[in-house]
Amino acid sequence: GWRSRAAFKLIEIDDRFKIIKPESRIIDLGAAPGGWSQVAIKRGAAHIAGVDLLPIDPVHGADFIEGDFTDPDMPDRLKTILGGPADLVMSDMAPNTTGHAATDHLRIMGLAEGALDFAMHVLADGGTFIAKVFQGGTEHQMLNTMKHAFQSVKHVKPPASRKESKELYVIATGFRPDNLKN
Ligand code: SAM
Repeated sequence: GWRSRAAFKLIEIDDRFKIIKPESRIIDLGAAPGGWSQVAIKRGAAHIAGVDLLPIDPVHGADFIEGDFTDPDMPDRLKTILGGPADLVMSDMAPNTTGHAATDHLRIMGLAEGALDFAMHVLADGGTFIAKVFQGGTEHQMLNTMKHAFQSVKHVKPPASRKESKELYVIATGFRPDNLKN
């Protein structure tokens, strides 16, 4: 079975957008307890490098680091595990909620922006980025950066995401690193 209810969200996103390609090399940000990694391996990913503040039980085909994704060494460490750039960077990261809506919103968007910056350092040409964001959406600056750096940017609320929750996922495909140089 899947280790997390979150696993169903990735299944629904992938059924619709086919982001997990056979032989994909994937970075899983905020991977604990490992549900998304389980789904990605099951769907044919070649190798997953994941990181979380929390320890994660082994998943065959995945290697996990217990640490903070903002650690300056983390992009290189995860790329080294994969043996090259990633085809997909997926972030389901969420902070511990405070119950104060505005604070929670800011924190989740901070993690999403950090994940985007991380992705732009580790993705291969044509790569895909997905991240949990908040309704009301992706902040202008983050959206502008994504529209510049990727061919297509979409938002989706998978059915498995509770209706009363304000989370959404942003899906950016076709990474174009050359667009960032000018
Ligand atoms: N997708 C996962 C699954 O299916 O099992 C569930 C992820 S859970 C919703 C969010 C995770 O983000 C938590 O385990 C949390 O520890 C992690 N996280 C939050 N901030 C982080 C950070 N700065 N670095 C690494 N992981 C972080």
